[in-house]
Amino acid sequence: MSVLALPSVMHVPCFRGGGKIDFVEKPVPQPGPGQVLLQVKANALCGSERGQFYNGTVTTPGHEAAGIVVAVGSETHTALHTPGVVFLMDFCGVCRNCQRGFTNQCLQKRGDMGFNRDGGYGVYMLVHETLFFPVEPTLPLTEATLLLDVMGTTVHAIHRAQLVHPDIQSMLVTGAGPIGLGVLAMAKVLFGADFSVLITDIASWRLDLAERLGGLPINLKQTTLADGARDHGLSRCDVALDTSGKEAARRAALDQLDKRGVLVCIGHGEGLSLTVSPDLIATERAILGSEYFCYNELPANLERLRTHLPYLRQIITHRFGVNEIEAAFNLFWQGETGKVVIEQ
Ligand SMILES: [Zn+2]
Ligand SMILES: [Zn+2]
Repeated sequence: MSVLALPSVMHVPCFRGGGKIDFVEKPVPQPGPGQVLLQVKANALCGSERGQFYNGTVTTPGHEAAGIVVAVGSETHTALHTPGVVFLMDFCGVCRNCQRGFTNQCLQKRGDMGFNRDGGYGVYMLVHETLFFPVEPTLPLTEATLLLDVMGTTVHAIHRAQLVHPDIQSMLVTGAGPIGLGVLAMAKVLFGADFSVLITDIASWRLDLAERLGGLPINLKQTTLADGARDHGLSRCDVALDTSGKEAARRAALDQLDKRGVLVCIGHGEGLSLTVSPDLIATERAILGSEYFCYNELPANLERLRTHLPYLRQIITHRFGVNEIEAAFNLFWQGETGKVVIEQ
């Protein structure tokens, strides 16, 4: 093992439940074979942490982490001081799915960083080297967190749609939270600035940000999806991506699809009821799920982040120190933010 001079204990946020976060002492972990220890520099808040915030957890949350390698175990190849981001899923690397690159569908997953392994709101974070994705030192690590949920999850979902519909010309995004904004932004990056993306929400703050990113906003407090789409000159869409997890949103999105259309469900949550003949058979529509992304999608997204950094960094609207983490979450839940990042 090779280490810099590190403290033996660290103060990390503890999610007590009921929205209360205080700080506890935990030992600084030491990397074993195949592991690296990161000093965390940035970790983005995520809607999927709602359960941890309200129910509490003994795990240190945080799964959108970027940091610098400060200790390495045996059988590793990463140099000390290397900056990078952490893939959420502690995939095995040897199962059938991992071997084919589907690391988001590992059959022997060892854990999920920030959910059942201590994550990126801690000062230091222990990860298997295979989950670490290096970036160049010139890329700010707060912006590097965009590579994870904001870019990774969304590009994967768009690629899922392209498996079924290779000639996508129009898109609907339901929900303008950070993932919805990410889908919008990555559609613009992938298909060009003129590509039409409808985006719905009930929060005008988020729709204003969506509009600044080039989206065609539909405020469902003021109009229906069908009327809003028609007002933007798009009566049908080739692909719809639901980030809301709401049955009503999924159903309305499905009804908005053209023949051969694809609905991709990204947001976990409620159900969806179908009438199979008109919904699927006669129209040859498809409904797909999309979960996180594959580790091997990171290099292409890093290239996109380098090329489009000024555009994509607009999705990060707030930055807080870790001492302000409780306030950061309270602001985040109010819906008047894009991505909120804890910096250390
Ligand atoms: Zn997340
Ligand atoms: Zn595996």
